[in-house]
Amino acid sequence: MRTVPGCDSCDTKNKIIRPLITNIQRYSLQDGPGIRTTIFLKGCSLRCPWCHNPETQRTLPEVNYNVENCSGCAKCAEHCPTGATYIEGEGTDSFLRFDRTKCTGCGECVRVCLTGARELIGQSLTIDEIVKEAVADRLFFLNSGGGITISGGDPLYFPHFSIELAKRLKNEHVHLAVETAAFCQWTYLEQLVEYIDLFLIDIKTMDAAKYKKHIKGELGVILKNLENLLEKKASVRVRLPIIPGFNDSLSDYEAFVNYLGQLRGKIASVDILTFHSYGEKKYQFLGREDYQYRSVPNMTYKPIKVLVDMLTEAGFLPGVSLTVGGLIGVNT
Ligand code: SF4
Ligand code: SF4
Repeated sequence: MRTVPGCDSCDTKNKIIRPLITNIQRYSLQDGPGIRTTIFLKGCSLRCPWCHNPETQRTLPEVNYNVENCSGCAKCAEHCPTGATYIEGEGTDSFLRFDRTKCTGCGECVRVCLTGARELIGQSLTIDEIVKEAVADRLFFLNSGGGITISGGDPLYFPHFSIELAKRLKNEHVHLAVETAAFCQWTYLEQLVEYIDLFLIDIKTMDAAKYKKHIKGELGVILKNLENLLEKKASVRVRLPIIPGFNDSLSDYEAFVNYLGQLRGKIASVDILTFHSYGEKKYQFLGREDYQYRSVPNMTYKPIKVLVDMLTEAGFLPGVSLTVGGLIGVNT
């Protein structure tokens, strides 16, 4: 059973874990206002079946293997210390195999691969190193009203680390956002309020049973945290990932609008994020066969227009307190 991350009685490991970083992405335009640098932490307490960043779900290092770039030289197998990568068969009947259950993420195969077919996902960086890299685009932040976003995975899966990182980044006097599902102990979000200028909070469904069954989280914890943040006068944008067959029915929309309508004037905006399948290849490179949205087409504007109309009627102003697909040009 999954526990609420950061619980001192049952999840003490998080106190000492320094998460791996999958990417520090510059020129990011969808993780808050303006031009931003987004820090992706590796690890998440939830398991959204449509996740388009599957490399950020697990905490341990992983190897991307893009077979299309592989020359078959077998250097990786020669150097793999655990036998995770090995040659099966002989001569013309031999095949390169990758048993991920034996992979420790040591990175030896990546080091010797000359074609770039292998990539190690998850870098161990100190907070000093992260801060130095993240503030490098400070000028762009100033000119665009942008800043830095701590994302993942979920930063609140590593609450102690994320609070420390936020504190350090705030000392750099940049606009700071955090992107989270808010499935965590309230005490950690409460501590972040002092440092975070903008919370980007996903609500994936208003159906608590569905949330638990498919995403492995507790909707009640999330909504309570959201409401607590608003009570503390934190700036919050609520993000609605709209997923075909999961939360795109009229009754799903009504439930979103009924709830969010009560928060109008308290939340900075609602951002509708339509489903896309850009993450599909990532599952393939990670050797994961559990992606349920293979070949599902990207969502267009048409099917969500009804939700846009309902939210508009509930008092959210398109382009101001209601956006579709991102945050470009919208200030908080
Ligand atoms: S990361 Fe290390 S253990 Fe994993 S396949 Fe490569 S060499 Fe083997
Ligand atoms: S070292 Fe790279 S190119 Fe060579 S077999 Fe391994 S993955 Fe393929």
